[in-house]
Amino acid sequence: MNRWEGVSRRRFLVSTSCFGAAYAFARMLPLSALAQSLAQDPRVSPSPLVDKGFASIRKVGNGVYATVSDFSKGPQTLCNGGFLVGRDAAFLIEGFHTPAGAAFQMDALRMVSPVPVRAALDTHYHFDHSMGNAFYGAHDIPVWAHAKAASRIVESYASLQGLDRATFLASLEKRVRDARTDAERQHGQSDLNAATLVFGSTNATVLALPNHPLDPVKLPVTLDLGGLSAILETYPGHSGTDVIVRIPDQNIVFTGDLLFNAWYPVTFDASISAWRKTLAQFASLGKDALFVPGHGQLCGQEGVALSRAVFDDLAEHAERMYQVGVPAAEAVERYTVPEKFKTMPIFAWGFTVGPTITKLYDEWKSK
Ligand SMILES: [Zn+2]
Repeated sequence: MNRWEGVSRRRFLVSTSCFGAAYAFARMLPLSALAQSLAQDPRVSPSPLVDKGFASIRKVGNGVYATVSDFSKGPQTLCNGGFLVGRDAAFLIEGFHTPAGAAFQMDALRMVSPVPVRAALDTHYHFDHSMGNAFYGAHDIPVWAHAKAASRIVESYASLQGLDRATFLASLEKRVRDARTDAERQHGQSDLNAATLVFGSTNATVLALPNHPLDPVKLPVTLDLGGLSAILETYPGHSGTDVIVRIPDQNIVFTGDLLFNAWYPVTFDASISAWRKTLAQFASLGKDALFVPGHGQLCGQEGVALSRAVFDDLAEHAERMYQVGVPAAEAVERYTVPEKFKTMPIFAWGFTVGPTITKLYDEWKSK
């Protein structure tokens, strides 16, 4: 082994150990299979174009392909995405978690078409949707995103680069050590796992920023790829930088993280009431709407209904606690996942349940 192989192997071990805790969580939660209703949807190909374990890509419409990730099999993509192929041009959706993830999707596009790529879109700034952008930079593919996405990437992730890992994680580790109950310990451990993942990813990545800002005031815009039209729209809710891709002729929607299918929604920088209104709008898109969510399996309206039901459940709990004067922090610890949602992944308590309840409290207090 030469010196550089030794270095890169050591780097690999360091970065994979950062993912270890998150993997432990992901392995318990294999991705559910394609829903029976979608297996019969004539738009959806029964077999994938390509399946690498960490993600599979299948045709879900005319010129429309969906990438669905399975984090339990690897961190390359982590989020879902896809691509659109017209007569004249193609359009890639998501920067994914790593350049290898973006490269995987590009390779799949080239299996079906040689047309030039107009651009790639980060549906929002979060690390699992943007840290593969360097692949696009290296291949002269413009990266489109909400106008605020680039600055949010810098504020949120460049600021973590070069920090001391132990210092960064110290307060979360202390919370796990000082937990008073098993529930508190589990919640704290899930937050520590998530922070470890974000820190590891950020420090293993050369950040590449979107270079084509989409001014939200000028949305929606229509994308004509030659015989295939898509509309880029912005909706409030998940991150303040959310852009969706809708193919109206075929009623297919790439929602980014405005829809988590059969997952607890990640809400740490969300607007809860606005997000619930956005989900109500998705529910009005018709019963044949096909959704490619940001995370989880492809779904129809049942996925939107489930996500709304989770928000309802969290809001009912929060309201009960609020009415009797329980402080927000205590209400967060006292939430229990109902039996019907037990199989749904929770990325981390402090990224999902915690901020949903705290933000609802803040909304009510400000009234
Ligand atoms: Zn997100």
